[in-house]
Amino acid sequence: MLNCITIDVEDWFCVESFRDIFPIETWNQQKPRVLSNIVRICEILNEYNVKATFFILGWIAEKFPEITEYLHSRGHEIGCHSYSHGLVYKMSPEEFRDDTIRSLEAINAGVNIPIRGYRAPSFSIKPKDEWVWKTLADLGFSYDSSVFPVVHDVYGTPDAPRFAHIIKVDENRSILEIPPSTVRIFGKNIGVGGGGYLRLFPYWYTSHALKRLNRLGFPGVIYFHPWEIDLKQPRIKARARSRLRHYTNLKTTEIKLRKLLKNFKFGPVRDVFDLDMKKQIGNRL
Ligand SMILES: [Zn+2]
Repeated sequence: MLNCITIDVEDWFCVESFRDIFPIETWNQQKPRVLSNIVRICEILNEYNVKATFFILGWIAEKFPEITEYLHSRGHEIGCHSYSHGLVYKMSPEEFRDDTIRSLEAINAGVNIPIRGYRAPSFSIKPKDEWVWKTLADLGFSYDSSVFPVVHDVYGTPDAPRFAHIIKVDENRSILEIPPSTVRIFGKNIGVGGGGYLRLFPYWYTSHALKRLNRLGFPGVIYFHPWEIDLKQPRIKARARSRLRHYTNLKTTEIKLRKLLKNFKFGPVRDVFDLDMKKQIGNRL
């Protein structure tokens, strides 16, 4: 079964954990590492003949339009990861709209193609904020992959559906919501194969969970960030929890990623899901 592999394209200083130390006004002064990390990720994907979905941060697309071109020319799918990496649930509808438009403009300066997929920074969309779905539909998106049905201090909606489902915006328009993968363990949803979950858990957990999802007929949706394969990034003296969140097991990401690519089939979101939503998608829990 084909599973989704997705990458949120941002640099090491753009993350929520370092927000206090590196507000967006300071990003231009930091040493960028995203270019070399993207090339590295593409080389790894190429070894396994895999295309992926890259949700690009607008700020990165604006500063490095060559990244968008590079990924598109290699056949990868391009999605949007907001402009400023702000938490959507802290934005007003107008702020969210402006941020998304600015990001789309930056991405489209690199490649002028329709952008169909959105991934919010830190999975910060709350499904009850219905204006989000309308805004995404208004701006031409077909799908979103931002509602993570887990318990987490920054993100997560633990009672949200675990599998892809259609959210009706109005009579004629819908958004396909594609949550990152979870499995249920002792009555709780636990994340699978993404970011911290990929780094912190042993490979056997990710592999077992993905096999379980595939056996039930569900494609896995995994995600990671370019900085998660970068052992040479600057080490920041942040709070202990932020350091733990950002640096723990960095050296294992590439090894686990390679094992996943070897043992499972992966593709971009557009190849795994019917983005035109012609087929009804069930939400089995
Ligand atoms: Zn992000």
